[in-house]
Amino acid sequence: MTDYECGERYFLHAYGRLKPVMDHGEGCYLYDTEGHKYLDFYSGIGVNSFGYGYPKYTEALKKQLDRVTHVSNYFYTPESVKAAKRVCEATGLHQLFFCNSGAEATEGALKLARKYYYMEKGKADSEVISFNHSFHGRTTGAVRLTGNENYQKAFGPLINQVKYADLNDLDSVKALVTDKTAAIIVEPLQGEGGVNPCTKPFLQGLRKLCDDKGICLILDEVQCGMGRTGTLMTYMQYDIMPDILCLAKGIGAGVPIGAFVANEKYAKAMEPGDHGSTYGGNPFVCAAVNAVFDILEEDHILEHVQKVSKHLVDGLEALTQEFDCVEGHRGIGLMQGLVVKPKAADVEMAMIKEGVIVITAGPHVVRMLPPLIISEEQVDEAINTFRKVLKQF
Ligand SMILES: *Cc1c(COP(=O)(O)O)cnc(C)c1O
Repeated sequence: MTDYECGERYFLHAYGRLKPVMDHGEGCYLYDTEGHKYLDFYSGIGVNSFGYGYPKYTEALKKQLDRVTHVSNYFYTPESVKAAKRVCEATGLHQLFFCNSGAEATEGALKLARKYYYMEKGKADSEVISFNHSFHGRTTGAVRLTGNENYQKAFGPLINQVKYADLNDLDSVKALVTDKTAAIIVEPLQGEGGVNPCTKPFLQGLRKLCDDKGICLILDEVQCGMGRTGTLMTYMQYDIMPDILCLAKGIGAGVPIGAFVANEKYAKAMEPGDHGSTYGGNPFVCAAVNAVFDILEEDHILEHVQKVSKHLVDGLEALTQEFDCVEGHRGIGLMQGLVVKPKAADVEMAMIKEGVIVITAGPHVVRMLPPLIISEEQVDEAINTFRKVLKQF
């Protein structure tokens, strides 16, 4: 049996997996078990911010392996305390909870918002507003927040009262608000649903609506946060603050950790016994978080993202001009989507065959999430591969 066949035999078929079996990575390239080389333009879905084998990152983890990897949340560790302080200080928020994934971050944020509502109103009958084409994770709670029927329909009855509004349509949100609305959850830049950025008036309008009505504004930056869009968090480009922020993916940059981070008002609603996680924020994954912050600061990654993403956008604009099968492009920083007329999955496959890994975001958007350290030359490599591939469509 090949490794691929062995995988198909023993894994539940939750994914339609691609044929190459990945062996190892180096810089911004991945290598499969047959020795083929791939330019990484997806970072393991927005996770591997510093590519593969980035010395400051791997050395920090190796050092932590020899100290201690896990103690549970019976105790603080120097690593977890440092990581929590850095996340709170960098975001301007008050307190956080470390979990292991994005879905756990959105679920935890939801629990905190509902707990606050319960303490205010004395009733557990809250409602939540989310958005069509959103993505908030795959657990039964998080999939309810996700405004996409395909991810939900087989798994009913779903828990939570959730209604779905349209992104960038403030009136569609206002129409759903009731006196039971506890929270609105939104991605400032939708990832999975098609790389759709919120407009500034819309996100600022949501903030004002939440302030006026006493609703908790939850920003899900699991994909668009941690430097991906050229600022530490995407909301920083909108001049607003969340009440609760959800993080995962890039915060660990290759190890499983997530977080929900609350301002002082909502943080107070969390009391001992309300929530927990055995692994959440253990010293190994927190050492990674600390390395991520060190690298972002010391190696001037945000400035690099701002510069290299301009080069990428220029390249995508050129493709839009050159090819009839390209309708346009959208995104912020190093989270970009190319809108194509053919099936995005067909373009994705053709790109991978030519040695560049991109992914999709909905039926007609090819999504790009390269490592934050990608160079202009590597961007050119990807754009030129698009040129070669798009000719076939
Ligand atoms: C990936 C993602 C999640 C879910 O994260 P997991 O770690 O897969 O549970 C939630 N929200 C957004 C915006 C995401 O991109």
